[in-house]
Amino acid sequence: MQNRLKDRIALVTGASSGIGEATALELARLGARVAIAARRRERLESLARQLAELGAEPLVLVADLGDEAEAQRIVHETERHFGRLDILVNNAGVMYLEPIAEADLGRWRRMLELNVLGLIAATQAALAGMRARRDGHIVNISSTAGRIANPNAGGYAATKFGVVAFSESLRREVYKDNIRVSVIEPGAVATELREHIGHAATKDALNAWADSMRQLQSQDVAEAIAFCVSRPAHVSINEVLMRPTDQER
Ligand code: NDP
Repeated sequence: MQNRLKDRIALVTGASSGIGEATALELARLGARVAIAARRRERLESLARQLAELGAEPLVLVADLGDEAEAQRIVHETERHFGRLDILVNNAGVMYLEPIAEADLGRWRRMLELNVLGLIAATQAALAGMRARRDGHIVNISSTAGRIANPNAGGYAATKFGVVAFSESLRREVYKDNIRVSVIEPGAVATELREHIGHAATKDALNAWADSMRQLQSQDVAEAIAFCVSRPAHVSINEVLMRPTDQER
C-alpha cells in the first residue's frame, strides 16, 4: 500500500478534525501530497506539521466552505500550488438536528449551503482540470442519514440524500472522462460532529444512542476512503455504506 498514492495530489475539506483530519493523514501515509481546508487555522497548522513529517508538502487553506466562491477558490489554489488536483475529498459538513416544526431555517440554510452547495461548487471547480487530464477522483461524504431519514433529522437527511443523488448524477456525467466518483455513507463515528446540535433533547438522545455502541473511529472511514482512491484506474468504487457492527439502522 505504501506509495500507492505517490505523485497524487489530494484536497481534503473539513480537515481540521474528525474524518477529514484522519483522511489527510492516511492519504499522506500512502504518498500523496495533500491540501487541507477548513475554518480553524490553528488546527490545520497543527495537522500540517504532522503531514510535513510524512512528506506530504501540505498546503493549508483557511476557508468557509458554505460560501461557494470559497469552495471554488480552494480548488483553484490547490491547482495553482501543486499544478493539478487528482483527488478531491468533499468531507466538510455540519449536522444540525431538531424537529421540523422547531427548525431554525437560518441554521438549516447554512447547513444546506455547506453540506450540499459547497460540495457542488468544489466539485464543479475541479472538473475542468480533471477532464482535461482525463484523470481524477471525487469522494463525497454522505451518511447513513443519506439512506434512512430519521425523525428530527429532516434538514440533515435532506443534505445527505442530496449528496447521494448528486454523486450518482455526477458519476454518470463524468465516467467517460475517466473521472471516478465515490460516495461514503458512514454510520455513527466518534467525532465532534454531534457537539453542534442545538436541540438539547435530540443531542442527549443521539449521544446516548452513539455511546451505547462501539462507534466507528475516524480512522476506519479514512481507510475506506484510502481504499477507494488507491484502486487501479479501471476500478471505480461508487458507494461505501459502513456502520458500526452494533448499529441497526
Ligand atoms: P467534525 O465536526 O469533526 O468535522 C467537520 C469538519 O467540517 C471540520 O473540519 C470543520 O472544520 C469542517 N467545517 C464545518 N463547517 C465548515 C465551514 N463552514 N467551512 C469549512 N469547513 C467547515 O465531524 P466529522 O468528522 O464527523 O464530519 C465529517 C463529515 O462526515 C461530515 O460531512 C459529516 O456529515 C459526515 N458524517 C459524520 C458522521 C459521524 O457520525 N460523525 C456519520 C456520517 C457522516 P472547521 O470547524 O475548522 O471549519
